[in-house]
Amino acid sequence: MRRIVLASRNRHKIREMEVLLHTLLPEEDFVLLSLDDIGYTGEIEEDGTTFEENAKIKASVPASLGYIGIADDSGLEVDALNGEPGVYSARYADEEGVPHSDEANNDKLLRKLASVPDEKRTARFVSCLSLVTPCGRSFTVRGTCEGVMLWERRGTGGFGYDPLFYHPPLGKTFAELTPEEKNSVSHRAHAAILFAEEWRRFFAHG
Ligand code: IMP
Repeated sequence: MRRIVLASRNRHKIREMEVLLHTLLPEEDFVLLSLDDIGYTGEIEEDGTTFEENAKIKASVPASLGYIGIADDSGLEVDALNGEPGVYSARYADEEGVPHSDEANNDKLLRKLASVPDEKRTARFVSCLSLVTPCGRSFTVRGTCEGVMLWERRGTGGFGYDPLFYHPPLGKTFAELTPEEKNSVSHRAHAAILFAEEWRRFFAHG
């Protein structure tokens, strides 16, 4: 059995990823461990300039300790803001001295978009997933979901930028979708499918 380490301490995220990967890779025999499971107590500095770089930086930590490492990095790219908030999605409003919160991030985004007309409010959620082996082989995939930033929040579900992110094919914001609906169209769902495809190729030749 392969022991894979997800570079995260979030048990919820690890369990979710394990279920997802076992569903997409039913023939594979592996167990997903956390950084705590392998006794890693350090902090990982996410100082990459792209989602791909950050996912690989994180996945390289377990790899440097002899494990196959995997990691994800995600966020929102708004075209009219040259891709902001991008890799700063989680901490977008932090610089303004406001305590970190989804509320503050969404307020900042609405302010920045105040003069941007409807047709220029295109955006996408991005999720990158990276796998790195102890000998330094790696692959990284990018899943996306295209949408439009609204002028005000709609819906109460989800998290982060979901209330402002309108998904045209379903005619709702991400915060108005059921978890099942969101999981069927999200950037993370697309990334997971691409990841499973790459995984098969990668280990078949490895
Ligand atoms: P991560 O945990 O480093 O991947 O942080 C990603 C950040 O991007 C989150 O804190 C959210 O602000 C944003 N984000 C990523 N995925 C989603 C999503 O599905 N809905 C809303 N916001 C998201």
